[in-house]
Amino acid sequence: MDILCVGAGFSGAVIGRALAEAGHSITVIDARDHVAGNCHTARDPATGVLVHEYGPHIFHTGDREVWDYVNAQAPFRPYRHSVRTTVQGRVFSMPLNLLTINQFFGTTLRPDEARAFIESKADTSIRDPQSFEEQALRFVGPELYEAFFRGYTEKQWGTSPANLPASILQRLPLRFSYDDNYFSHAYQGIPAEGYSAVVTRILDHPGIDLHLSTPYRLEMADRAGHVFWSGPLDGFHDYDLGRLGYRTLDFDRFEKQGDWQGCAVMNYGDRDTPHTRITEHKHFAPWESHEMSVLFREVPRACGPGDTPYYPIRLVEEKALLSQYVARAAANEGVTFVGRLGTYRYLDMDVTIREAMDTARAFLADPGRMPAFVHAPL
Ligand code: FAD
Ligand code: UDP
Repeated sequence: MDILCVGAGFSGAVIGRALAEAGHSITVIDARDHVAGNCHTARDPATGVLVHEYGPHIFHTGDREVWDYVNAQAPFRPYRHSVRTTVQGRVFSMPLNLLTINQFFGTTLRPDEARAFIESKADTSIRDPQSFEEQALRFVGPELYEAFFRGYTEKQWGTSPANLPASILQRLPLRFSYDDNYFSHAYQGIPAEGYSAVVTRILDHPGIDLHLSTPYRLEMADRAGHVFWSGPLDGFHDYDLGRLGYRTLDFDRFEKQGDWQGCAVMNYGDRDTPHTRITEHKHFAPWESHEMSVLFREVPRACGPGDTPYYPIRLVEEKALLSQYVARAAANEGVTFVGRLGTYRYLDMDVTIREAMDTARAFLADPGRMPAFVHAPL
């Protein structure tokens, strides 16, 4: 069957490759002039540093099949992500761990003591935290919440943490040890030549025809037996019910000699610092050496038409609109919506790949009964 994959990010590439291997004829298109979607990496011409063009990307997963899959495409190098954060004129370790707690409170607590100390600060009257703010007050108490989460989160999401779901904070561990690993997954790494090299390898199959700088046009679907859409769900419907809310990011680039901040990512928790973080990309490839360094300040703001959508907001208002678009999508035949934009969910790369594998398997099992969503947006 002739199949069209819209988007050459991990979603479109993994589905396209699986179906090409099963003998289908695949066209992959992308509006951008590069593969890998928001995971795109490219060498900075001025410094030679490999830059994660749409913000820092660290591969981490507990899914062995996904880990083996990406490593089979291109070599990954071990990389362990630890973040620092600057608040109130001091530098701390992030995620919150024993070092953060002891430095912030000027204590020398051991793990059990720290656990009891933080529990004494926590608002235990909150039994079932619903919002980000309740989750923070319940588990870390007011001082740590105010210093490390409130300002950063207001800048990141453009709203009070009281309006945001607890699930956003649940992404971060809270550790009563000196372990400062940002992630808890068993497998973690960075591809030696960047993510675009990985996606290029996935798309390198005689059954796949790749067209970059090619936005989707309606007549393309007429020629395809099935479409896998990893573009924006509302974009497929020409935004005719309104736009789903996203946060976008402005990146402010600067160059320095040597090593400017000493780590890959420095967060800025204070509300009066406009950026949320600064990324120094050379630290993502400690196996390389570069005299110069390139850094980006990240400033989040509301996403307008023409901006790159980064973070789906998914508040009550957006969810109401989302359910209308989901109903519209379900009424289409021959189109399956996938990935971060197609299902309007915050998905890490490993989950994106896992879902793309599941989607391809569902199609191969029964192409005639492919639903609009294998993974539901709501
Ligand atoms: P995308 O990568 O967005 O690809 C979709 C593609 O579709 C795009 O290339 C787009 O150009 C194309 N497209 C859209 N509309 C059209 C159209 N009409 N016609 C043609 N093409 C179209 N994940 C992690 O695991 N670790 C991290 O550290 C991490 N950091 C992140 C940091 C930031 C700032 C962001 C925003 C995300 C991060 N992620 C991270 C998530 C990661 O970026 C996603 O999991 C991944 O990009 C999802 O892949 P995708 O193929 O679904 O979507
Ligand atoms: N967060 C925060 N302070 C920090 C880091 C994170 O308040 O120093 C909050 C913020 O709301 C963010 C969420 O925790 O959106 C999840 O953090 P993560 O690093 O997973 O964010 P992402 O990878 O989505 O940028």
